[in-house]
Amino acid sequence: MSHRPIYLDNHATTQMDERVLAAMIPYFREHFGNPASISHLYGWEAEAAVKQARNTLAEAIHATSAEIIFTSGATEANNLAIKGVAEAYFYKGRHIITVQTEHSAVLDPCRYLEKLGFEITFLPVQPDGLIDLSKLEKAIRPDTILVSVMAANNEIGVLQPLAEIGKICHEHQVLFHTDAAQAIGKISLDVETMKIDLMSLTAHKIYGPKGIGVLYVRRRHPRVKIAPQIQGGGHERGLRSGTLYTPQIVGFAKAVALALEELESESERLLQMRSHLWNSLSQIDRIYLNGHPTQRLPGNLNISVAGVDGAALILGLQPIVAVSSGSACSSATVAPSHVLLALGHSESLAYSSIRFGLGRFNTIEEIEQVAQHAIATIQSLRLGSRG
Ligand SMILES: *Cc1c(COP(=O)(O)O)cnc(C)c1O
Repeated sequence: MSHRPIYLDNHATTQMDERVLAAMIPYFREHFGNPASISHLYGWEAEAAVKQARNTLAEAIHATSAEIIFTSGATEANNLAIKGVAEAYFYKGRHIITVQTEHSAVLDPCRYLEKLGFEITFLPVQPDGLIDLSKLEKAIRPDTILVSVMAANNEIGVLQPLAEIGKICHEHQVLFHTDAAQAIGKISLDVETMKIDLMSLTAHKIYGPKGIGVLYVRRRHPRVKIAPQIQGGGHERGLRSGTLYTPQIVGFAKAVALALEELESESERLLQMRSHLWNSLSQIDRIYLNGHPTQRLPGNLNISVAGVDGAALILGLQPIVAVSSGSACSSATVAPSHVLLALGHSESLAYSSIRFGLGRFNTIEEIEQVAQHAIATIQSLRLGSRG
């Protein structure tokens, strides 16, 4: 078989870890029961596996198992958090605060609520991608019911100051939701010290299976109410009906456990590889790092290359390396990244960006190969556009 390109698109999705797959397989085969079946062994086995996975996931974020609601992924978790809170608290207020650089799975539910009569504040970010905490505090009004700020950005990897945001929300008695799809297993998350009320998670960004996620919903101090968005058999205490997907749930817990076990060593390894890539690329002139230089995921490198069309660059890299320009959802369209525009970039610089997402299965040899190929491609594109 011919050589496949080096995979550096780990913010879009990741290859499942073999250890995760091995943990899942028995739940496709002999332990196939429905965890809601209470009258026989098949159901009990599945229920026991779900219970154990729920505990693992709860412990990973310092929550309790009753606060874990399984969903089909972070998109659904975000929808459930935002629409669920809006529907449960609309009598109290109809104002929600979020950020311009959020994932579309947060922005679109907010825009939908806007059409229903809610008011949404889309906070700007600073040129480094971080929100201004004083702007957040000033935006809070008596009718604000929810603040939704992501933990780690999927395009530029920037880490928002969750504990500070949680403190402000707590002081003003406003619920705090965070989309932690890119953060779980990569940085430590603690719903208690960070005062997080709702948190969205997904498995497939951390070497787990696609199609499984979690919404954490706080049960004490305060007890958060959400209105279910999918109704049926009353699973997940009526908050999210539908037969639980046991193999995916088992795989999710295994993926999180592995990521946390290896968090420190893996962060260091990723940082080393990313530094090597940036040190090589930054020798070229007019190449810029997007997002805060250190407050970011260790595996993320997002750059703009002045005078080079990002799409052409990605095309030139394609045989050697699989990367994208930003969010997978918008990379099929021609619009420039809303995240890079929010940083204050011109449209042309936003169009000349590329996102490297390094992950568990990358090696330093691969990164060296990518660096050399990227430099050659950039130089030839610049020569071409001049002549
Ligand atoms: C991937 C991603 C999502 C969507 O998660 P799915 O599980 O694929 O639905 C939401 N938010 C962020 C920040 C993401 O990176």
